[in-house]
Amino acid sequence: MNDCLFCKIVTKEFPAEIIYETGRTLAFRDIKPQAPTHVLVIPKEHHADAAALAEADEGLADDVLKSAHAVAVQEGVAGDGYRIVFNTGPGAGQTVFHVHAHVLGGRALTWPPG
Ligand code: 5GP
Ligand code: ZN
Repeated sequence: MNDCLFCKIVTKEFPAEIIYETGRTLAFRDIKPQAPTHVLVIPKEHHADAAALAEADEGLADDVLKSAHAVAVQEGVAGDGYRIVFNTGPGAGQTVFHVHAHVLGGRALTWPPG
């Protein structure tokens, strides 16, 4: 996926503040944070959205979820509570079409999100 911004972060062609990495996932800080902790967790392999990730094989979605939780622990927000969000499709606000989990924490998070 030559034109994918997050694929370029995976290959280090584009910079990002990477805070966590596994064999199949990468986590980096959102450039426009919506909370004191706002980290994006992605599979290194390109899948457009959560629907595609759900259909990916060999537990890739599981790896992304596990990495999201590991990031929350590492960031110190797991105790108070944190939110994992997959905006899926333009109608839900997805703007980057390489699936990513937003991990948000470090402040009170209201529900519903609006
Ligand atoms: P979406 O709207 O697709 O759910 O989320 C995309 C997220 O990617 C946004 O929160 C946006 O701030 C973040 N983002 C967009 N471009 C960049 C970038 O170049 N670097 C980083 N670290 N985050 C980005
Ligand atoms: Zn990609």
